[in-house]
This record gives sequence, C-alpha cells and structure tokens, in this order.
Amino acid sequence: MRIEDIHTHLLPEEPGTALVCIGCGPIPAVDDHYFSAGLHPWDVTEGFDSQLDALEKLLANPRVLAVGECGFDALKGPSHDIQEAAFIRQVEISEHYGKPMILHVVRDFDSVIRLRKQLKPKQQWLIHGFRGGPEQMNQLYAQGILVSFGQKHNSESLKAVPADRLYLETDGNGSVQDVIQKAAQSRNESPETIVRHILRNNNILLER
Ligand SMILES: [Zn+2]
Repeated sequence: MRIEDIHTHLLPEEPGTALVCIGCGPIPAVDDHYFSAGLHPWDVTEGFDSQLDALEKLLANPRVLAVGECGFDALKGPSHDIQEAAFIRQVEISEHYGKPMILHVVRDFDSVIRLRKQLKPKQQWLIHGFRGGPEQMNQLYAQGILVSFGQKHNSESLKAVPADRLYLETDGNGSVQDVIQKAAQSRNESPETIVRHILRNNNILLER
C-alpha cells in the first residue's frame, strides 16, 4: 500500500495513493482505491441510527480502512449532545471492525480528549486538518491522539512532530506533492524522507 494522502474526498489520479472519504457511501465502483467511511458531524440528524446502519455495512468492506471523518464541530451541525451520541456509536463501530478513526474537530478538542479517556479505545484516532500550536498538539499526543496536517497548518507544530507521527493530507484541495514539499521545508528534510515517513506511518495506522 502506498497511501501518501491520509484524508481527501477525491479519487487520486494514481489509485491507492490516498484514503478517500466517502461519507456514508456508496463505495465508488473503481478498483484499487482505499476509502474511509463515516458520518460527518454536520450531517448527523436526530434519527442517525439509520445513517449508522448504512455506515456499518460499509465498514465490513475490506477496501474501507477507517471510520471517518466524524467528530465534533462547535460552529456547525446539530447540538453537541447529538454529535456526541453519533460519535460514540462510531467509536463502537471502529472498535468492532478494528479500524482507526479520522476525526473532524472544530473548537471542541476537550470532548475528544474526555471521550478518549472515558472510552479507552484500542483503535487510533487521527484528527485531520490540524491547525493548532505545539502545545495543543502535545496535549493530544499525551492522550494518544494523532493529528494530520494539510495546506493550512501551524509550521511550528509540523516542525515539532516526531517522524513516527507525521501524517499529511489534502482534504481534497490541491496536490499532496505540495503538502509534502511544504512539510519538507518546515522540517528541513528532503521530500523523499517525508514520503518515507508518511508511507510507513500510514501503513502502520491502517495495518496494511
Ligand atoms: Zn474532509
């Protein structure tokens, strides 16, 4: 597996080089691509049970490697309580299928940290599109929560990431090569070294 882009919404030109988020489906009828499936906090409705039933079926597919994006958004979507109930169900799905979670978190890192402590999941949680500073990043790392970086990020954080926790993404904007170049500059490493880190880390995260 050669996944460089850990979170996008677009099929990559070269199949198998990105983890493509398909929400609650359907799975595109294309070969050799990898997917994540999840109920985005913006899309959670009060009757989310039927949405999650659809999601569970997708997770049984071997080409769906992760749950997400799901999580918390304090600025958009239904009430916190509904977002949390849907999130907890998705944690259960992630644990049941043994697949990690890709999280969307806007201004509600505390809920993620609280639930990580409370639920003690075995699967990894990766917060995508992380823009916080090194202090916030280290608070998350202390709880075993991972982060990934896109075009917009705090370069001090990206510089401080240990090589074995480096994850990069496009979120469907621009090319992953640009993100790799930027990371190489901030970290004073070659693009080849960055690629080596992210391929290894993605393989371990997705257990392939
Ligand atoms: Zn996204």
